[in-house]
Amino acid sequence: MRLELREITKRFGDFTANDAIDLVVEPGTVHALLGENGAGKSTLMNVLFGLYDADGGEILLDGERRVFTGPGDAMAAGIGMVHQHFMLVPVFTVAENVMLGHEQVRGPAKLLDLDAARAKVTEISDRFGFHVDPDALVEDLSVGAQQRVEIIKALSRDAKVLILDEPTAVLTPQETDELLEIVGQLRDSGTAVVLITHKLREVQAIADTITVIRRGTVVGTAEPTATQEELASMMVGRDVSMTVDKDPADPGEPMLEISNLTVIDPATQLTVLDSVSLEVRRGEILAVAGVQGNGQTELAEAILGLAEITSGDVSLDGEPLAGRSIRENLDAGIGFVPEDRTEDGVVAAFTIANNLILDLYDREPYSKRGAIDPSAVADHADEQVERFDVRTTSSQALTGSLSGGNQQKVVLARELARDLKLLIASQPTRGLDVGSIEFVHKRIIEERDKGVAVIIVSSELDEVYALADRIAVMYHGRIVDIVSPDTDRDTMGLMMAGAHGDQEEAA
Ligand code: ADP
Ligand code: MG
Repeated sequence: MRLELREITKRFGDFTANDAIDLVVEPGTVHALLGENGAGKSTLMNVLFGLYDADGGEILLDGERRVFTGPGDAMAAGIGMVHQHFMLVPVFTVAENVMLGHEQVRGPAKLLDLDAARAKVTEISDRFGFHVDPDALVEDLSVGAQQRVEIIKALSRDAKVLILDEPTAVLTPQETDELLEIVGQLRDSGTAVVLITHKLREVQAIADTITVIRRGTVVGTAEPTATQEELASMMVGRDVSMTVDKDPADPGEPMLEISNLTVIDPATQLTVLDSVSLEVRRGEILAVAGVQGNGQTELAEAILGLAEITSGDVSLDGEPLAGRSIRENLDAGIGFVPEDRTEDGVVAAFTIANNLILDLYDREPYSKRGAIDPSAVADHADEQVERFDVRTTSSQALTGSLSGGNQQKVVLARELARDLKLLIASQPTRGLDVGSIEFVHKRIIEERDKGVAVIIVSSELDEVYALADRIAVMYHGRIVDIVSPDTDRDTMGLMMAGAHGDQEEAA
């Protein structure tokens, strides 16, 4: 089925998220919709899927104008969507979840029975080699398998147009390859696939056609032969260098030493960190790689004191951190960029200026004799906003009004403004556009070159490779291995799935 979107416009209040977007997707092709975070990709697809009412424009399927008042309409017309956040019910089986989709569409009177759903799952799973058991509980499946269930669900409705919204964000490199293979099979069977992503590598690997959107408008189309630099500069509207220049590390004394660190989650009694030992020296970047949820977050939090240590030792510059408060740890020279910036990174109800001095407000030059000096705070804020290219109307705007990427820049600006011994940055560029990623990476390398010990936690392998001097791979709360950044992607992917790599410790 041929999909055509004509001049789709969608506004949220005064904000135009989609501005007269045109898009044509031919059957049997993979059309990549590429754009930085917040460009309007999900919004466009939500319009197509009947989740949002467009303010203008039309949707045509095989040349015929269609109006969808809800996802049910869209699905009935042959459109399937796998959302950025899966919508499965964890305590239901695969077949039950697939059935659930039909129920919503057809109403209780025409429920598919469970046997039919099971048979359907088996048929689709066999056809594409998905290896999904219809009777498995969704909560027992890997993230990759859950995603295949979402695809099965869409295909069980005979989707002729399949939308995949950032499908690889949660996958290991191997799972990503498997998914791209599946996408290729779907294309070959005649499906029109819309693949939404900001990952240039994937676009190059699978796309037949590429549409780039920036700030709600189509800025152009590109051939799959386009280079990453070309695609990136279309995405951000200026030249972008994709490789960060970085001299080999010149590590000094150990700054952070961790031995046999174990953390048991008090709520669940699960061992989230299992006897982790590592050291980070001055002037080096240790990247902690792994699929999200394998203890990386807990490791970062335990060092700062946000997670309670069950056993083991952590010391900074030779001093044990046990028994210190978070404030004392920050004062001792730890910079911390949390994974969840809206939860832990910024105070949304404070101005940008005040967020930038969150842990410095009672010091000179921001405070003098106990009173805050507003002009010193404002000057500092204006300087940092400029330096970190925080997109805002004013440094006095509320931080909550910023987009996620810009909030992240505020956190980074604040943490990097202090004199650090250790920088811990979790997912430092999540939600940032490629241009900002380049900038943040440069700043992190500058910290390293000043002699700061740096730990980066990242589930993006590209980021790990761009920054790491050494890589610690985590799986199920343990360090699988610590390897050099020369380790290839396949080996990394296997380690991220728990397989041991080369046992030699990287120099
Ligand atoms: P993408 O998927 O390309 O990352 P989105 O389509 O999710 O981007 O968002 C595009 C822009 O629209 C963003 O600035 C976002 O903040 C805004 N936006 C998205 N959904 C809503 C909504 N329901 N209400 C208000 N603004 C929204
Ligand atoms: Mg999106």
